Amino acid sequence: SKVPFITLHNGVAMPQLGFGVWQVPDDEAEQTVTTALEAGYRSIDTAAIYGNETGTGKAVTGSGIARDELFVTTKVWNSDQGYDATLRAFDASLGKLGLDQVDLYLIHWPMPARDTYVDTYRALEKIHADGRAKAIGVSNFQPEHLQRLIDETSVVPAVNQIELHPQLQQSALRDFHAKHGIATEAWSPLGQGKDLLQAPTVVAVARKHDRTPAQVVLRWHLQMGNVVIPKSVTPSRIRENIDVFDFELDADDMAAFAALDEGKRLGPEPANVNS
Ligand code: NAD
Repeated sequence: SKVPFITLHNGVAMPQLGFGVWQVPDDEAEQTVTTALEAGYRSIDTAAIYGNETGTGKAVTGSGIARDELFVTTKVWNSDQGYDATLRAFDASLGKLGLDQVDLYLIHWPMPARDTYVDTYRALEKIHADGRAKAIGVSNFQPEHLQRLIDETSVVPAVNQIELHPQLQQSALRDFHAKHGIATEAWSPLGQGKDLLQAPTVVAVARKHDRTPAQVVLRWHLQMGNVVIPKSVTPSRIRENIDVFDFELDADDMAAFAALDEGKRLGPEPANVNS
């Protein structure tokens, strides 16, 4: 496939476009992930809380694709935060996936009111030191949470996976990431397929390039330097979402997209998630 890689700060190569499986039921995950692998995706984003690590793992291990050509991400759920609980949760995730190593292991939410993310991250450092996760990082962290990890632990998170789409462009976090060598990974990159894909600007840019709204939104992310993990269970859309490497948005298109930023969250305010 023509998906480019970005190099994480520890030298690990991560596909810039992957496949997200949130809300895919476990008994459909094997088929859906298999469709994605056949379409050329090599990076899969799951999480313990998605309940589909088993089906996702079956697709990965049954694909016949060499393990080192695949990039598997999973995440420790909130109720498993803390050093020992995270080590146990990681073992459970590996067991469900049927793998002996993941490429990226993330803390799903910081839960600042619980104040357990530093201990949780120390467990990720141990997992990384033991060679069971090639890279470690976080999700939904705000600058103050990242700064605390940088100050109190020894491995800078390789990735922060955050809600990011043209209506929530996250410039402050992106600047913080750039300063510290943290890769920005966009969740809900298509705005969950809601009104973003009908926005007049997006529709006009799509028409100009003879592409779909989803394709030009993904192109915007790629040109911004974001890692993207669009989700779909529809085979034609799964293929459409990876067919974005033979055209480019121009400076006018990028300027038009810049004007769509309205600070609109689809998910919760990260600091307010504490269970
Ligand atoms: P998304 O922005 O990827 O949108 C997916 C939805 O958009 C689909 O369900 C479908 O309705 C629609 N869609 C997909 N392709 C389309 C196309 N080509 N044309 C028209 N509509 C299309 O939303 P998402 O699933 O929320 O996010 C992607 C992934 O990000 C998730 O699957 C998950 O892996 C990850 N995620 C992580 C967190 C986190 O807290 N870390 C939170 C949410 C999502």
